[in-house]
Amino acid sequence: MTEKRSFDVVITGGGIMGSSTAYHLVKMAPGLKVVVVERDPTYARASTTLSMSNVRIQFSLKENIQISQVAFEVLERFEDEMAVGDRRPRIFFRREGNLFLHAEGGLEAARRAFELQRRLGCRVEWWSPQEVRARYPLYETEGYAAATFGPDDGHFDAYAVLMAYRGKAKSLGAEFVTGEAVRIQTRKGRVEAVALESGEVLPTSCVVNCGGAWAADLAATAGVKLPVIPVKRQVFALDTAVKPEGPLPLTVLPSGLYFRSETGGLILLGKSLAEDPVGFDFRWEEKRFTEILWPELVEFVPAWDRLKIVRGWAGLYDVNTLDGNAILGEWPELKGLYLATGFSGHGLQQGPAVGRYLAERITGAPLSLDLSLFGPQRILENRPLSEGGIV
Ligand SMILES: Cc1cc2nc3c(=O)[nH]c(=O)nc-3n(C[C@H](O)[C@H](O)[C@H](O)COP(=O)(O)OP(=O)(O)OC[C@H]3O[C@@H](n4cnc5c(N)ncnc54)[C@H](O)[C@@H]3O)c2cc1C
Repeated sequence: MTEKRSFDVVITGGGIMGSSTAYHLVKMAPGLKVVVVERDPTYARASTTLSMSNVRIQFSLKENIQISQVAFEVLERFEDEMAVGDRRPRIFFRREGNLFLHAEGGLEAARRAFELQRRLGCRVEWWSPQEVRARYPLYETEGYAAATFGPDDGHFDAYAVLMAYRGKAKSLGAEFVTGEAVRIQTRKGRVEAVALESGEVLPTSCVVNCGGAWAADLAATAGVKLPVIPVKRQVFALDTAVKPEGPLPLTVLPSGLYFRSETGGLILLGKSLAEDPVGFDFRWEEKRFTEILWPELVEFVPAWDRLKIVRGWAGLYDVNTLDGNAILGEWPELKGLYLATGFSGHGLQQGPAVGRYLAERITGAPLSLDLSLFGPQRILENRPLSEGGIV
């Protein structure tokens, strides 16, 4: 009989959350036996690689702002910190800004969020519609009341960041195995092992469920019911006949329509719609852009009445239906089961702070940033957090 390999920590899902957590664990506690179980090492369907790769300061919940401040610090020194030998990752962090347009009705919430961000030491600017137009002459700003601009916000190569976390974690001793976790085994209110589809069983007293949009399915095998559902979101890459003078920031309209410059002169655009389907569906539809999104876009950027759709893609948000925020920490009713899910569309930028936080909780190290506000107790108590303004 083959001996079962046991681990101090089994992480299920090796996207940004699983890989960052693995890295922080082995960095903080050298010698800790950590394994990451990832079904698809190409990450073809992981949200991490299908995202818009944006990081922004413009949240209205203090902890979400602080998480982004951590991301800024980490991304600035990332290429040095993540080097393995003479292999240094290149992540193309471009700080081209985020610009939120506000309608009259949203001004009060925008002002509150703006003031909170400033109090926390963030660089964010309050612009009139005229200032927006002076900076971005393609934009038709009539009808908007104001805008807020975060000059430090930007985007980066998410795949490169993911690969760097994986590579560095491995170099420090974490193991990555290709396989599907099919069941979390428990005994007397504690985690006992993770069973893989291959038949292998990994004994452990600590499981970190980083399964993204699939996390609720695995949690359910241990009797844990999470309010997290997979929701399809689509992104379109556009080649516009009229090009902006320079890069456009991630520009977000009050309706939720967003777009930004991509390399190669392209524009990336998307919008979450109430009718977006729930389920594991990755097909994208051109007519969604041409029929629904384009008319709205042309009102704001009239010069884009001529453009070509170069490509599109669909990915999944792991939507927390309770409050649209992360669920982080140990499940109160099952010792040893840690969760990092429910990121609802803004998780990529949270990877650095969340991985560090979970590693600190698991190893008992002092907390660099207390994220217990996102603890899962609130799920059991049906107590939603409020973003209070822009999300
Ligand atoms: C279109 C789109 C745009 C987005 N834009 C942004 C953005 O601009 N900024 C931002 O911060 N966030 C953005 N997000 C959200 C962000 O991508 C996610 O919140 C984040 O990537 C979640 O990371 P994760 O590691 O939890 O999940 P994933 O990256 O999905 O990783 C989960 C991994 O777990 C694996 N897995 C699942 N179940 C199992 C199992 N049972 N066994 C083994 N492996 C398993 C999967 O194969 C997958 O690789 C966007 C998302 C989408 C879809």
